Amino acid sequence: MTFSDLGLRSQVVKAVTDMGFEQPTPIQEKAIPHLLKSKSDFVGLAQTGTGKTAAFGLPLVHRITSSQRFPKGLIICPTRELCLQIANDLKDFSKHEKSVTVEAVYGGSDIRRQMKAIKDGVAIIVATPGRLVDLIKRKAINLSEVEGVVLDEADEMLNMGFKEDLDYILSATPDSKSTWLFSATMPKEVAQIAKNYMTDPLEVSIGTKNQGNENIEHIYFAVKERDRYAALKRLIDFNPSIFGLVFCRTRRETQQVAEKLGKEGYSAEALHGDLSQAQRDRVMNMFRNRSIQLLVATDVAARGIDVDDITHVINYNLPDEVENYTHRSGRTARAGRKGESLVLINTREKYKIKQIEKKINQKFVFAEIPSAESICAIQLESMIEKVKETKVNESEIEKFIPAIIEDFADLSKEEVIKKFVSAEFNRFLDYYTKAGDLNAKLSDKEDAPPSKGRQGRNRREDTDPNKTRFFVSLGEKDGLNPGGLLRVICDATGLKSSSIGRIDIMPAFSFFDADKSDVDNILRKVSGAEFEGKRINVEVTESKKPSGNRRGVHGGSRGRSRGDNRGGGNSRSGRSRSRR
Ligand code: AMP
Repeated sequence: MTFSDLGLRSQVVKAVTDMGFEQPTPIQEKAIPHLLKSKSDFVGLAQTGTGKTAAFGLPLVHRITSSQRFPKGLIICPTRELCLQIANDLKDFSKHEKSVTVEAVYGGSDIRRQMKAIKDGVAIIVATPGRLVDLIKRKAINLSEVEGVVLDEADEMLNMGFKEDLDYILSATPDSKSTWLFSATMPKEVAQIAKNYMTDPLEVSIGTKNQGNENIEHIYFAVKERDRYAALKRLIDFNPSIFGLVFCRTRRETQQVAEKLGKEGYSAEALHGDLSQAQRDRVMNMFRNRSIQLLVATDVAARGIDVDDITHVINYNLPDEVENYTHRSGRTARAGRKGESLVLINTREKYKIKQIEKKINQKFVFAEIPSAESICAIQLESMIEKVKETKVNESEIEKFIPAIIEDFADLSKEEVIKKFVSAEFNRFLDYYTKAGDLNAKLSDKEDAPPSKGRQGRNRREDTDPNKTRFFVSLGEKDGLNPGGLLRVICDATGLKSSSIGRIDIMPAFSFFDADKSDVDNILRKVSGAEFEGKRINVEVTESKKPSGNRRGVHGGSRGRSRGDNRGGGNSRSGRSRSRR
C-alpha cells in the first residue's frame, strides 16, 4: 500500500515522500481513505508514535484546495509543545501547496501576533483549548467555515480539565463539520464526547482498546522505599547510552531528583510547572537536541513531549492514575522503535503493577536491580568503547607527545592503561564497592490493593499491643503518599520499612503505626524533618482505632484521640490513601 493508493493528491504524496515516509502506518492506512470523504466522523484509538498526526493531518491538507479567509481545519490538542509539533508537521505536509497556511495558537505567547495572523487568513488552526476560547471570546476568529475538527489526545485534554472549553469551542463550529477524535485511551468521558458530538463515527483502534504499544517492554523492580533514588542511579548507570525520561509524582520531587542527579554528575534537567515558559523551552530544547541525557518530569509537564529515540522511560514513582502510565510509557518506542519502561516499586506496591497490566493488556517482567559489579563492568566497557572511538587530533597533540612519553617511560603499557582507567573510574568504583544489594523481597500478599477488608479490625496492628499510632501534620494535599511518608520516616530514623505498620494518608494529615520501642526515636527525628520543603510534626495519637477507646502510649490526658478529633474515621471510608 502506498500513500497515493490511499487517495491523496500528488502534492501531498510528494510532501510525505520528501519526509522519508515510504508506506502508510496502520492507523494511516485505515483512517485516511475515510477522512478524505466529505462527511466523516472518526474515532481513532492510537498511541502517540503510531503516525496519527499524519493520519489526520494529510486528509486535512488534502481537503484544502484554494486560499482561505477563514479556517477550514481546526486541530485542538492539550499542550503548547504538541501544538507546535503538529503545526510543524502540517507545514511539512503542505510544503508544496501555497494555499494551505497553518498557524499554531497557544497560551503563553503573544496573542496579538496570533490575532494578526488569523486576520490575514489561515487555512488550518492548531490550538490549545484555553487560548482558542480566548480568541473566540475576543471575536478574533471566525469558525463558521470549519469543515473538519480534530480533537487530538482527547483523553489528555479531559484529564487536564478542558471539558468545558471543548464544549464551548465545538459549539462555535458549524453542525455540518466532520469531527475526528484521537485518543490513546478510551475512558468514559472520551466515549461521552464521541457520543455527544459525532454521528456514526468510524472507530479504528490500533491494537486492542486501551492496549499499550507492543514495542515497549515493561519491567519492574522492587526496592525499599529509602533505596528508591540509589536504585534510579543504578538503572541509569546500567544503561550508559540511555536517553530517557524519568517521571516523578510531584513538582518538588521532580526538582529534587533532577538536582541530586545533576550534583552527582548526571546529565539531567527538571521539567515541571514551577518553571517559567522560557525555562521549560530551554530544557525541552536541550533534551531535543540531546545536550542532556535525562529529563526528569511530572506527568503534566511531559504531556505532548514528542521526542523520537527515547530509549527508556523510568517511573521513579508510579502515577496515581493508572491511565497516566500509558501516557508515560508511550513516550518511548515511537515510530516502530523499541523501548523500555522501567518501574520502581516498594514492597507494598505490587498490586499497582497488576492494575496496570490489566489496563494495558500487557505483562510486566520482574527484574533485579543490577548489582554493583555488573554496573561497573558495563561502565568500564562503555568507557573503553568511547576511548577507542575518540578521534586523535594529531596536529594539535603532536607537540605534547614527546614529554608525555618521557613522563611514562618507567611504566609498562599495562600500567599506563590501568592508571588512565583508574583516573577516570575510581570515584565510580569507590561508590559501587561500598554499595550493597538494593533488591527488596516482594510478598505475594501485596498483590491486592489496600482495601477496607485488609485494614479490618483483626489486623495485627489494630490489636498488637506493641504498636503505637502516630499523627503526622502533613497529608495528601501536601503531596504526601504512603511511599513518601515511609521514605521520610526511614531516612530520618534509620528504621527499616518493615518496622513501620499501617499508613493512612488523609487529605490534610496522616497516621502511621510503628513499634512502641521506636517511639522516642520517631518523635525526636521525624518531628522537624522535611517532606518536599514542608516541616513535619509528629505526635503519638491516643488511640490506634479512630473510633476506639483504648488509651495510647502518650497523651492520656487529652480525652479524645487525634484520630477522633481530626476525622480519623475517614481512614476506613476509602477517601484516604492507605498502605497495606
Ligand atoms: P505521531 O504518532 O504522529 O507522533 O508520529 C510519530 C513519528 O512517526 C513521527 O516522527 C513521524 O514523523 C513518524 N511517521 C509518521 N508516519 C510515518 C510513516 N508513514 N512512515 C515513517 N514514519 C512515520
